[in-house]
Amino acid sequence: MSPKENTWIKSTCAYCGVGCGIEARTNSHGKLEVRGDSQHPANLGKLCSKGLALGETVGIEGRLLKPQINQQDVSWEEALADVAGQFNRVIERHGKEAVAFYVSGQLLTEDYYVANKLMKGFVGSANIDTNSRLCMSSSVAGHKRAFGADIVPGCYEDLEMADLIILTGSNLAWCHPVLFQRLREAKAKRHCKIIVIDPRKTPTCDIADMHLPLLPGSDIALFNGLLAFLSENNSLDFEYIEAATEGLDLALATAFRFGDIESVQAVTGLDKAQILTFYQLFAASKKTVTVYSQGVNQSTSGTNKVNSILNCHLATGRVGKPGSTPFSVTGQPNAMGGREVGGLANMLAAHMDFGNPEHTQQISAFWQTDNLASAPGLKAIDMFNAIESGQIKAIWIMATNPAVSLPESKRISTILANCPYVVVSDCMADTDTLRHANVALPAQGWSEKSGTVTNSERRISRQRRLLPSPGEAKPDWWIICEVAKKMGFGDAFDYHNEADIFREYAQMTTLGQKEATAGMNRHGVCALSRPLNLSGLTGLTAKQYHQMPPQQWPVTTYNQPTVRLFGNGEFATPSGKAQFIATDHRPIAATTSRQYPLLLNSGRIRDHWHTMTRSGLSPRLSEHISEPFLALSPQDAERFSIKPNALVNVISRKGEILLRARISKECQSGHVFAPFHWNNCTTSMGKVNTLIADQRDPLSGQPEFKATPVRIEPS
Ligand code: SF4
Repeated sequence: MSPKENTWIKSTCAYCGVGCGIEARTNSHGKLEVRGDSQHPANLGKLCSKGLALGETVGIEGRLLKPQINQQDVSWEEALADVAGQFNRVIERHGKEAVAFYVSGQLLTEDYYVANKLMKGFVGSANIDTNSRLCMSSSVAGHKRAFGADIVPGCYEDLEMADLIILTGSNLAWCHPVLFQRLREAKAKRHCKIIVIDPRKTPTCDIADMHLPLLPGSDIALFNGLLAFLSENNSLDFEYIEAATEGLDLALATAFRFGDIESVQAVTGLDKAQILTFYQLFAASKKTVTVYSQGVNQSTSGTNKVNSILNCHLATGRVGKPGSTPFSVTGQPNAMGGREVGGLANMLAAHMDFGNPEHTQQISAFWQTDNLASAPGLKAIDMFNAIESGQIKAIWIMATNPAVSLPESKRISTILANCPYVVVSDCMADTDTLRHANVALPAQGWSEKSGTVTNSERRISRQRRLLPSPGEAKPDWWIICEVAKKMGFGDAFDYHNEADIFREYAQMTTLGQKEATAGMNRHGVCALSRPLNLSGLTGLTAKQYHQMPPQQWPVTTYNQPTVRLFGNGEFATPSGKAQFIATDHRPIAATTSRQYPLLLNSGRIRDHWHTMTRSGLSPRLSEHISEPFLALSPQDAERFSIKPNALVNVISRKGEILLRARISKECQSGHVFAPFHWNNCTTSMGKVNTLIADQRDPLSGQPEFKATPVRIEPS
């Protein structure tokens, strides 16, 4: 059903974790018009260039319109029967650990919920992981260690209430542009201080009072030094530490080992005066928000980096209070929703844990299954390595393009080419991953599908249907449920619509909750036994679900006001206290050498999104930067005889690609940067992830995308 002409319908943007609300309508020329939703708390009417161009990215050009087996069009019935039959056969012959799902932060929560339910609840394996592993799994692991649960305590308003905002490993201006706009306006009004910590001088530095261009991988040294400084300068909040935390002594002892300014200077490469100014500002600013993103997470020590930041906030009692909190901002539109319903291989739905017999028993009873997975499954990189080794023989990839987005992407392509059975659900007809599919399933895309997403501040918003589906495209949740039925799990997957699934998920969040309602104190802070609680949404009618305005969880009463978590000093750990974690500095996994003298950082640009299957459709978005590039310093350009705009061969231990040289002062000498978006190239242009090794954080499994030794040569 398409909306009536000129009727504005509220939905959310397809792209980043800010989760902006939009309004869209079909105009008299049949085009989709998009504007910001002034009532949505995330963006208050603002949109960035990508959000504003959404209407240019819809249509049937390039769409996968019919199910296919071995590239031949087939009926849905044939395709679904093939998938169910092959998965059942593999499980029968090789066991349940021989199958896997690789899913995506682009899925809606309802899609994610049923995918997780099928794999963990009924197949009985936890081999379901998500591309969110690449974006924020270190934050998940860090949150769980410190807080006892994967929780972002604050909300976007905190950015506007803080006296000091630290942006570390975050190019907010390009990667979360609407938050950047909000911050810029807040700074103009309140004159808050902004510090950017990033090896690169990114556009985010435009609003910074200070830029700390630390060496890649040295974040822990910087934050350990801060913890030591706070202790030495009587800036710890001992009342809070005593009441709400455990483990400070060990964390402090570790921080003090290399915590003097000279040691911090040696490891970070920063100027001593800058380090001191940062530390003094942090000590003096009661209202402090530290925003961290992929520069922190995408690292072989990502989890420890996160905890080194959380340690400083815990030591000063700055968690979950108005204008004062650590704040992980996620990359994808529904990375948070996926985390909530168990999209990561090491988590169960509704923030319940494998190691907790009460949780596994409650989930088994709730889903009425006796086959719940009993242990964590394989994380993304391990999953693809298990295909290579022959352990996994069938994989279903949903709404993601790992042949481009995973490290060593050329090897991933080979792995998929050799995998006995590959199913791909996608809305596009030609992606690098789809080329390896035995079965291709046409999924609805943004503007066609309906469900919910959760943004970085835990706000659940409805993504609504705006346009009819082209061809035979279906919702992901429907495809998964139909396969589940054909695999023999019919009763558990008999949903009529996405509202049915959402209600079941909301009900699941109430399992074992000790309190039915949230206690909200005078600070607007909420206390619950397990904060992911949607008890206020369990009884929604289909109409209420359809009309649901954005809800920030926990939602114990429908439409409750903004809540912060943990600000009362009660955490989700067994003792109820937050945990300091001793974090040691560890160098990046691969160091430069004579053969590979430069360090490559990879990331996003302002106007493209991931592997460009959507943003690449908008000519306007391609105007900003039209081809893949390598940013390098003038010194390195001279050293390696690279002329402006020349083609450059970039060579790592894993591969070689071609990029256009952009000589600029954004990179320090010895460091280069390239965006990872370009793919589908017939030449070796772009495809940065072919250069990147699959080294990863031992706890989170998140790969190190930001520090790859390379050499460059004029082409
Ligand atoms: Fe979309 Fe993110 Fe831009 Fe908002 S900031 S319009 S969610 S891409």
